[in-house]
Amino acid sequence: MFDKIEHLGIAVKDAQKSKDLFTALFNSPAYKEEEVISENVKTIFFECGPNKIELLEATHESSPIAKFIEKKGEGIHHIAFAVTDIHAEIKRLKEANFVFINEEPKKGADNKLIVFLHPKSSNGVLIELCQDLA
Ligand code: ZN
Repeated sequence: MFDKIEHLGIAVKDAQKSKDLFTALFNSPAYKEEEVISENVKTIFFECGPNKIELLEATHESSPIAKFIEKKGEGIHHIAFAVTDIHAEIKRLKEANFVFINEEPKKGADNKLIVFLHPKSSNGVLIELCQDLA
C-alpha cells in the first residue's frame, strides 16, 4: 500500500549553499545530513510540518544527481512515497508493467529501504518507494 508522500527530492549543485537557502526559507534548520556512499550523494533533510524535503548533491561525477543536473539543471528530482511492504509493491508494479531502475531494494538515506521506478514508465517522474527500516 502507498501510505503518503514521504519526501520530495531536490537536486542541487552545492548542498551547503542550498542548506543555507532552505534554512532561510523554512526559518528552521535541517534535521539530518547523511552521505549515501552507494549512490554517491550527500543528502540534507528538512522538515516542514508533516512533510520532508531532501536536498541531494552529487559527491562524484558518476552520481545520478550529477547526470540529472547536467541534463536538466537543478530542481525537483524525485517524489518518494512511503510504502508498508516494499517487496509486495515491487511485485505488484512489475506485474502492472512498471519498470524499475533497480529491482532489489537497497538501503537509502534516513534509515529507509528504497527502490526507484524508471521515469519512462511513470510520465517522466522519477518515483522512489521507501519503507522504514525497523
Ligand atoms: Zn529520496
